[in-house]
Amino acid sequence: MSRRAAYNRPSASQQTTEHNVLETNHNSFSPPIRIVASRRRRRTVAARLRSGVLELLVPEWMPRAERERWAEEMRQRLERRMERARPSDDKLAARARALNDRHFGGRLRWTSIAFAEISHLWGSCTFTTGAIRIASRAAPLPDWVVDYLVVHELAHLEHSDHGPAFHELENRYPLTERARGYLMAIDHGAAKA
Ligand SMILES: [Zn+2]
Repeated sequence: MSRRAAYNRPSASQQTTEHNVLETNHNSFSPPIRIVASRRRRRTVAARLRSGVLELLVPEWMPRAERERWAEEMRQRLERRMERARPSDDKLAARARALNDRHFGGRLRWTSIAFAEISHLWGSCTFTTGAIRIASRAAPLPDWVVDYLVVHELAHLEHSDHGPAFHELENRYPLTERARGYLMAIDHGAAKA
């Protein structure tokens, strides 16, 4: 990959700002990168995404080539993190199969499972058609919480209500209580905001 970079001369101020324009590649995550050199920073490099700009905080002594290498490294790390957080229906389907095997002896059958833009619920299961939807906003939550949401909707394939038989199924997932608490805290926070 070719790179074009423009650098300011080091200034006497505490912090200098440099702009590093990476070649645009539409297939990958390539935000504008701002390199901030600091005298106070001694050894470590840090990166943060601010308003769509990847800010790289580096020690002032760090040579240009090394700064560029870190910029690329941090860009890739962020790309991987975003990739993991991206809602993936394939991954969701694979987890539903694994959870079905582990907690329900593989006996449950559904017609589709996918992330969907649902704002008022965390998930839904259409009892008659066997279609399961999980709210897209749940995708960045920890895996064990998303697993609970999937188990909950899987259990609805057998019981459309929230009666004792439903809870017996749902509680086969050992982190059910914790996940419910986790989601309640989020719902509560959203209600207050
Ligand atoms: Zn339910």
